[in-house]
Amino acid sequence: MIRFYGVSKVYQNGVTALNNINLHIRKGEFLFLVGPSGAGKSTLTKLIFREELPTRGQVIFSGKNVARMRHGEIPYLRRKIGMVFQDFRLLPQKKVWENVAFALEVTGVSRREIKRRVPEALKMVGLEDKAGMLPTQLSGGEQQRVGIARAMINNPSLLVADEPTGNLDPETSWELMNLFQEINQRGTTIIMATHAWDIVDKLKKRVVALNCGQIVRDEEGGGYRDEA
Ligand code: ADP
Ligand code: ADP
Repeated sequence: MIRFYGVSKVYQNGVTALNNINLHIRKGEFLFLVGPSGAGKSTLTKLIFREELPTRGQVIFSGKNVARMRHGEIPYLRRKIGMVFQDFRLLPQKKVWENVAFALEVTGVSRREIKRRVPEALKMVGLEDKAGMLPTQLSGGEQQRVGIARAMINNPSLLVADEPTGNLDPETSWELMNLFQEINQRGTTIIMATHAWDIVDKLKKRVVALNCGQIVRDEEGGGYRDEA
């Protein structure tokens, strides 16, 4: 589903964020991206949905070179990728259902279709009763559920989550991890950058560890830290 071939990213200021990354992520995988702050995790995720372009190498998503896509193809790419952020990134003046509907409105879906799909998405994350509330009226865990509903509204084949539990307490984090696992079991590929070592150790998924822009470990059923 995604391949990185010899990918490097050097930012304008000369910082090398990624250095010769080779990585193959298969459809349906659940992959944890770990490593210290500044290791290059966010940069790697940004290259997938073309928020940044590689300096060298190629990122291939569903058989297409992301950097070579024409402008008209980019919205289509982004619709196939759901994004979840540490700080939720909800629109504070908009109600829960509007936050989720917004991701559909920009794609030109009909009002009728929105009225059908938004409640479905809210039900999936267990927030069907909170559609009319504002983000500030919700707990952190509930706000992140809204973020997940928004990310999933276009039925993406890939969900990329950058520290999705970073602002949440342990119990809430585990509830959200259960939701992410359900989403994965229904077929969505998940890439999750995280510092939550307890979650990584317990779930025994594929772990890709970055350090100074390089992959230093890629292990099926791996833990947060290297065993050796
Ligand atoms: P991580 O997500 O693992 O913390 P990042 O991908 O955010 O790592 O950062 C990798 C390196 O690239 C760091 O040294 C960071 O300071 C640098 N970096 C990230 N974004 C930018 C940017 N927009 N401009 C310049 N340097 C950046
Ligand atoms: P109120 O402002 O009275 O609390 P809501 O915010 O629940 O009402 O709803 C405002 C408008 O948005 C109404 O027209 C309602 O039918 C519509 N609406 C509410 N929930 C949804 C939803 N999940 N999807 C689409 N439209 C909705």
